[in-house]
Amino acid sequence: MKNRNPRTFEVKSFGCQMNVYDGERMAELLEAEGLSAAAEGAEADLVVLNTCHIREKAAEKVYSEIGRVLGRGGGAQPMIAVAGCVAQAEGAEIPRRAPGVDIVVGPQAYHNLPALIRQAKAGGRAVDTDMPAASKFGALPARRRLAPSAFLTVQEGCDKFCTYCVVPYTRGAEVSRPWAAVLDEAKALIDGGAREIILLGQNVNAWSGEDEKGRARGLGGLVRALDALPGLTRIRYTTSHPNDMTEPLIRAHAEVPKLMPYLHLPVQSGSDRILKAMNRSHTTDSYLRIIERVRAVRPDIAVSGDFIVGFPGEREADFEATLRIVEAVNYAQAFSFKYSPRPGTPAAEMDEQVPPEMMDDRLQRLQALLRAQQLAFNQAQVGRRTEVLLERPGRKAGQLIGKSPWLQSVHLETQAAIGDLVEVEILSAGPNSLAGAASMRTAA
Ligand code: SAM
Ligand code: SF4
Repeated sequence: MKNRNPRTFEVKSFGCQMNVYDGERMAELLEAEGLSAAAEGAEADLVVLNTCHIREKAAEKVYSEIGRVLGRGGGAQPMIAVAGCVAQAEGAEIPRRAPGVDIVVGPQAYHNLPALIRQAKAGGRAVDTDMPAASKFGALPARRRLAPSAFLTVQEGCDKFCTYCVVPYTRGAEVSRPWAAVLDEAKALIDGGAREIILLGQNVNAWSGEDEKGRARGLGGLVRALDALPGLTRIRYTTSHPNDMTEPLIRAHAEVPKLMPYLHLPVQSGSDRILKAMNRSHTTDSYLRIIERVRAVRPDIAVSGDFIVGFPGEREADFEATLRIVEAVNYAQAFSFKYSPRPGTPAAEMDEQVPPEMMDDRLQRLQALLRAQQLAFNQAQVGRRTEVLLERPGRKAGQLIGKSPWLQSVHLETQAAIGDLVEVEILSAGPNSLAGAASMRTAA
């Protein structure tokens, strides 16, 4: 039997930070409709699976999750909504393949979730994958679920059409949220206790808009406007595209102390031949020049990136060029993936697909180098004092976990509270986190 009158919900987000943000907004929307979040460990009446379509494995996960939710024992079966990029890409195919699914809602349509739930309550199956001209943001309730570090989506979609990527198809065209809407949401987040705001976008540095005086502004201008908001102590942004790394944004890294010294700037490959086939529209050289310019104004900046190995036509020499650019940049952090052919993208049809065992081998070699760089970056902090924004409890009693300015996770035992900014002496470092001791509280 199906639960047709959900009172509790669970939103499970997969994939990127933009999905985490969308998941938070859906939870706020459901709360505004009178539903409440299911208690930790309890089974929800409505399960929203907020999915990712970027690689095949991520996309397949949704079906095993649906099976898991439907297979759980107990009373009535929960109502299931599939949201996110798999919903956009597969639409009505999802309930055909998984008949237990009641609702399918794309990333630009989730403000319609209450109406879709009403349809499902009446016993119908509800599918909405529209990409309406009017933005969903105006139809969402005010921000409520707040944490010391809060995401704020400022830009969505992508017009760059890298030949491997589904984002332009699942998230639609590049759109920037207006200046005032972003600042209003930032103020609401700060009023609710956020100390750090992470501006999000598929190409966040392509954000553009007009300020309150009608002047054209880019992301650098938006960062400066956030800097002026009292109560905010840290600003970050992600993910950036090399082609949109403008001079005003680079200058902001020099001149805005609240802007943290961290830049996620994916390069994908170190081979110009492969970059061209990927339609990346930057070269290894232009990428390295950007890193140089950013480091010239902010020498301590932590650079992070994304890499794809095994793109069609990638030969050993191309892959070795990727290892060389990694050596040249010296990354503080990175995300690396095996190329995954996505239906409907040009690269999926290209000749010379790379065999899986060759991809495995290249990924291992690349990750060994990236891990060594990340460990060295973390170890360089040992013995130094740094500010940490405390974000969540650790596993041990009395332990809290926060972030350094360079986005490293730092564990420490402290009397301070979540949301505090504390000065910490770094005692030891591993590849994924640092351990420290609190010295004195620097800000509340
Ligand atoms: N807009 C960002 C950019 O261009 O750098 C990245 C957005 S994408 C959601 C995140 C990362 O997923 C990409 O940087 C790329 O490394 C990876 N990715 C995208 N499509 C992929 C595919 N088909 N196979 C493997 N990795 C992929
Ligand atoms: Fe995908 Fe390329 Fe757009 Fe990034 S820039 S979202 S990788 S198409």
